[in-house]
Amino acid sequence: MSAQLDRSAAALEALEEDMSSASGALFVDLIAGYFSATRDGDGQVSTPRTAGELAARFADALPGEGKPLADIVRRLATDVIADANQLMHPMSLGHQVAAPLPAAVWSESLIGALNQSTAIWEMSPTATVIEAQLVRALTRLIGWGDEAGGTFTSGGTEATFSALLAARAYAMPAAWEKGVGDEPPVVLCGEHAHYCVTRAVAQLGLGGRSALAVPSRNWKMDISALREMLDSLAGAGTNVMAVVATAGSTATGSFDDLAAIGELCEARGIWLHVDGAHGASALLSPAHRHRVRGLAYARSLAWDAHKMMLMPLAAGMLLVRDEADLAQAFSQHAPYLFHGARDERVWDQGTRSFLCSRRADAIKVWVGIQRYGVSGLAALYDVLCDSARALHELIAARDDFVAMHEPETNILCFRWVGDRSLGDGALDAVNLDLRMRYNRAGHGWITTTVLGDRRVLRVTVMNSRTKRGHLCAMLEELSREALVLAER
Ligand SMILES: *Cc1c(COP(=O)(O)O)cnc(C)c1O
Repeated sequence: MSAQLDRSAAALEALEEDMSSASGALFVDLIAGYFSATRDGDGQVSTPRTAGELAARFADALPGEGKPLADIVRRLATDVIADANQLMHPMSLGHQVAAPLPAAVWSESLIGALNQSTAIWEMSPTATVIEAQLVRALTRLIGWGDEAGGTFTSGGTEATFSALLAARAYAMPAAWEKGVGDEPPVVLCGEHAHYCVTRAVAQLGLGGRSALAVPSRNWKMDISALREMLDSLAGAGTNVMAVVATAGSTATGSFDDLAAIGELCEARGIWLHVDGAHGASALLSPAHRHRVRGLAYARSLAWDAHKMMLMPLAAGMLLVRDEADLAQAFSQHAPYLFHGARDERVWDQGTRSFLCSRRADAIKVWVGIQRYGVSGLAALYDVLCDSARALHELIAARDDFVAMHEPETNILCFRWVGDRSLGDGALDAVNLDLRMRYNRAGHGWITTTVLGDRRVLRVTVMNSRTKRGHLCAMLEELSREALVLAER
């Protein structure tokens, strides 16, 4: 019994000690040190070690006794940060994950400290209203009316799932109780849509084959193909539950023509969902806003603040033109949680969300917008897109690479072609190996994809520290490595 008392006394003492600013400063110094160590682009961008090697590092048994916080923070530096992907490094040009806004990073610990669950207002009196007001302020950029609203989500995947659930409730109000039956409606999306669309269609019980791919032209939804498909479905008496357009596609960052798609959907009374996980932040930028012209036609929009608004993971949003659509989507009663009055707007975001316990991610987004302002975020959006444009120019000035498309945002796909003496198949192999080799060397980090059956290299600029010189250095190293591979 007394051993147990000793243990609890020690644990309670550790808790109090860890609440001091001296303890917090250990983390502040660690993180500020990481920010500064990555500034000049010395050091590796990613780890040369395998998953197995890293797993061995963390194979020790669970510790029986606690350790001093300072020891653990030291291990975070040597064992975690050192082999993590250094997204703050200017040569980090990989996936669509941000070098996060520092003010939002610091806010993460406040979100944890307050630990407000935003399922219901009574558990999060300030965070819930911040979320609701922020979402509504963003809907005004689209030009929607006062009925618009939405919810934070874990990301674009949850947002698109919830949007299509709302579209299902609209098209088939009985589906929540009775299921979708034998002849479910179909959902149309571009052939280059993110996989979350077909995943949502299958999750909603419509059957994966109810997701129909509209062919692309220049990596965007082909409008005449969409019109023909809608006509032939109407002719066959097949109901269309939704059309999903993409604003900033994953592979090439291309924007579908939302005005043309929106007009088609409006004329036929079809729900338009826009997957703007990547590109909806163009709304903030006067220079790029034209990319999402026609967005007001949408009934729902997925928008990830953790993409081009540069928030740390996770901060996704689902905005809807009529907030009542979302409440309909989740038409469930939970008397132990939700007991708002019938006639007024319910503040509890849990009534509009897939999740129950929910982080107050809205706080860090609010801090980020307060700190940098809409114009600051727009400027950062423009800077990242300008870097992709600069890379496109650098490639155009060389013979040994070709760009696959004009960059519409911060993403560019290109291909090493050397002196063009190799065939397409051989070039596919070189480009695939090239990416592996380049990333393993540690000076930079890029991705790859397949476009029109050809293996290509892919760069996403998510870091405002990346300058033209870094892009030149990347092309130089890629070209040196490619020549070695081509001669093998
Ligand atoms: C990133 C992305 C998604 C997925 O969003 P998550 O936040 O990763 O869930 C969906 N669609 C597009 C176009 C994206 O860029």
